[in-house]
Amino acid sequence: MSTVPSDQLTDVPAEQVAAESARRRTIAVISHPDAGKSTLTEALALHARALREAGHVHGKSGRAGVVTDWQDMEKQRGISISSAVLQLDHRDTVVNVVDTPGHADFSEDTYRALTAVDAVIMLIDAARGMEVQTRKLFGVCKQRGLPVITVVNKWDRPGQEALALLDEVESVTGLRPTPVTWPVGIAGDFRGLLERSTGGYVKYTKAPGGATLAVEQRMDAAGAEAVEGEAWRQAVDEHELLEATGADHDEDEFLGFRTTPLFFTAAVANTGVGQVLDALVDIAPSPRDQRDVGGEVHPVTSRFTAQVFKTQTGMNPAHRDRLAFARIHSGVFHRGMTVRDDRSGRPMVLKHVQTVFGSDRSTVDVAWPGDVIGLVNARHVNVGDTLSENGRTAYPPLPVFAPEHFRTVRPKDLGSGKQFRQGLRELDAEGVVRVLTSDSRGDGEPVLSAVGALQFDVVQYRMTHEFRSPVLFTELPFTTARIIDRKDAPLLRAHRGCEVVENAEGRVFALFTDEWRVRSFERDNPDVTLEQLVATS
Ligand code: GDP
Repeated sequence: MSTVPSDQLTDVPAEQVAAESARRRTIAVISHPDAGKSTLTEALALHARALREAGHVHGKSGRAGVVTDWQDMEKQRGISISSAVLQLDHRDTVVNVVDTPGHADFSEDTYRALTAVDAVIMLIDAARGMEVQTRKLFGVCKQRGLPVITVVNKWDRPGQEALALLDEVESVTGLRPTPVTWPVGIAGDFRGLLERSTGGYVKYTKAPGGATLAVEQRMDAAGAEAVEGEAWRQAVDEHELLEATGADHDEDEFLGFRTTPLFFTAAVANTGVGQVLDALVDIAPSPRDQRDVGGEVHPVTSRFTAQVFKTQTGMNPAHRDRLAFARIHSGVFHRGMTVRDDRSGRPMVLKHVQTVFGSDRSTVDVAWPGDVIGLVNARHVNVGDTLSENGRTAYPPLPVFAPEHFRTVRPKDLGSGKQFRQGLRELDAEGVVRVLTSDSRGDGEPVLSAVGALQFDVVQYRMTHEFRSPVLFTELPFTTARIIDRKDAPLLRAHRGCEVVENAEGRVFALFTDEWRVRSFERDNPDVTLEQLVATS
């Protein structure tokens, strides 16, 4: 973080903004549950210097998490609810790791985290390869053209062959893997890494006495052959094979979403993690100039702009309030500055801006492009809003991800109407679920839609504990939705197996029981446009 006092920041030279932006990397780790996302994140933090942490990396037992009532549920269900932004400092580079919350299931919130980053680490388990949640999250990266660094984890455990994993990554993602490190020893017999750029060897030995960092020993090829024999020769053969097929890292190909640099790790032993951290500094992109909704380019050096990608209430019982997380796209943030929200048109003074470190919070005085700031109790700020110093900038709205689960909801206790409505409004604004209204429903019950079914458990938990209004759900038979024009609503309402609903922003959706019915409607009504939502599968 810069130490420049905030009262001197009204006119920061563009060169300083450019320099601060250039030394930032804002990334997320995507993976299937249990592949080792938390372990890798902690290992990265161990190699770097953790500057600060907003929210927390999901606190499983034995980890330094925050004690909140969220954790009850995390413990019970093994799911992570609060999002985290972990800030690391490595080789004079600030790495912002935006957490993609979600364990057994994902919510829209998980996918939205990917709208706030410039690149991702796609973490896969060496035995399990490209699992279903990884594929879904990758789909969003593809849609956004986010550069992907692949990490094959758990190489200390029996798993697939390295070359077979490369094939799998390539056939599923369409990206050509360009390994930066190559394992010496098969999965389950992880001896060390051949560093492909130098041809040198890094040997890892378990630290005595259970110390966390494995002991690292560097040697040249001759030394490696003497120590590892056949395992080294096999690694060299495979490395040469990769070289012959042109599978070497190329920055333009990586940034152009055609290749994915690939690493091997045993995150639990911190093996190979240093090379991943170096890659974030050396090859991951820094914040890019963004286009606003009208297509105009806003350089990172222009006046302060940020976009809100997440809101959350009640993260900590000691501070039961609402935080809105915004990713800075341009300019410098300084505490006390006045910005305008593009949607509401309201000016606001950004005084209470914080990061959350464990259960403590610290006030942010200065932040730069790529950083994430948490606005405290900014009640009128919603997900997708642009905050700008010039008062005019508006970035395109965040994508709406395709829901696959639908239920009606009603309060268990009819007397809790006010809390019920307020709770649903907040959960809708946070993107935990979408709250939809349907005028064809005689009972007037709202319809909830979710990307993952586990979100309904989160709704029940929060409605009960936070909003004091336990709820009852009724499952609906729909599996897919399309955005429609309001004028077409009567046609769709009349269609079998279809219901028309509306969200809080006045967008109209048609819900269908299955894709077959969507296609049959399209065949019968070629003039009606059914707009797809961003698919996650
Ligand atoms: P997440 O659900 O993706 O965040 O996964 P975790 O980081 O919680 O890891 C899931 C389990 O895999 C935990 O028991 C970890 O200790 C274990 N694990 C993570 N990385 C490795 C690894 O490199 N090798 C081995 N053997 N186990 C690992």
